[in-house]
Amino acid sequence: MESLTGSILVVDDNAVIQQVMKLALEQYGHHVTLASDGHEAIELMHAHFFDLILLDIMMPTMSGFQVLEYMAKEPELAAVPVIVVSADSQIDSAIRCIQLGAEDYLVKPPNQTLLRTRVNTSLRKKFLHDQEQAHQAEMEQMYEAVKAANVAKTEFIAMAAHELRNPIAQLATTNHLLSRVGPLNEKQEELLEKINFSLERMKALIVDLDDISRLETGSIRLELKQLDLKQLILKIAESIEHDLREHKHTLDIKIPGDLPAAWADRERMIQVLTNLLGNAIKYTPDNGEIVITAVHEKQHQAIHVTIQDTGLGIQAKEQQRVFSKFFRSEDSDVRDRPGTGLGLFITKSLIEKQDGHIWFDSKYGEGTAFHFTLPIAPEVPEDKMGMETAVSSR
Ligand code: ADP
Repeated sequence: MESLTGSILVVDDNAVIQQVMKLALEQYGHHVTLASDGHEAIELMHAHFFDLILLDIMMPTMSGFQVLEYMAKEPELAAVPVIVVSADSQIDSAIRCIQLGAEDYLVKPPNQTLLRTRVNTSLRKKFLHDQEQAHQAEMEQMYEAVKAANVAKTEFIAMAAHELRNPIAQLATTNHLLSRVGPLNEKQEELLEKINFSLERMKALIVDLDDISRLETGSIRLELKQLDLKQLILKIAESIEHDLREHKHTLDIKIPGDLPAAWADRERMIQVLTNLLGNAIKYTPDNGEIVITAVHEKQHQAIHVTIQDTGLGIQAKEQQRVFSKFFRSEDSDVRDRPGTGLGLFITKSLIEKQDGHIWFDSKYGEGTAFHFTLPIAPEVPEDKMGMETAVSSR
């Protein structure tokens, strides 16, 4: 075993034993300090840093027991290892010292090999412990630094979203006025429409950034109420009819009439469903099939909603990052479509804030199914009894 050297305090009222141990320890390269009783030892411990204490038990004025009791109560001394050095007849006392926190014991006068080995073992443990402490302190520092950087970034996002709001609103108004000041030719109309489209995207991005800063600072407010998910899904399906038609997708909605009410925030669920359905439409080549199902999972007291598409799918190597902020697939088919990579991050946070779960399964080139659950409302209204419905639109 490799020999370690350290700073050792030898506490013994017997000057001969002190000298014997000092000589033996210095021979192995340790730095040795001597104390003749408990009081002197404690004074030295507060003034210097020791890696190990070799402690006699029976000493005048303050015994080894009292030193151990004192050390246990002092946070800066509690971790310093102690080896008790006791007379042959004091084995019971040595055991008591171990109960009081001493690490090991040696019989007086210590055998050289035993002294060397036990000191080495204690120092090894002590150094490992010190390393661990230093590592933990470093990790804590890093964690604090990352937390501070994260707060600064969230504040920056909130500030940027806020500051961009006004100029964008002004641009939108100017754009609107432009079409009223005089007749525009076809090319001008076309350019204005492009500006409008970009403005809409910028507005959506600001809303997303605003949501992210609220989610990260915990300042988002949810109004949880009984929510008829079936009604909501049918309404949203109506609102996206135009997009479905444009891409020639079919939409099937399979929701039983007796689906219990969910316990959720209506506005936020519109946002979640619009994002998931919008993605299904956007990332599915024309003539795709989208299916929404919702079932009551009685064993979990939850409603399970699935939005399945026959679209591009997500490559296995990218699947782990799908819910990360700003994730967008490397796939050129995805990159050709507009997007910010914020929608699913927000969607996941919103679902989880409502005590639900969200996940997906996807096969590249075949399609994706996003699933989420929501808790059912504490009371189920009576008018929820009915038949399974299937709505289809093209
Ligand atoms: P955005 O659509 O604005 O890029 P999202 O956060 O909604 O942002 O989605 C993140 C990424 O996840 C998308 O860019 C896309 O790569 C992938 N994705 C999301 N939904 C689907 C889907 N239904 N099919 C295939 N890929 C999807």
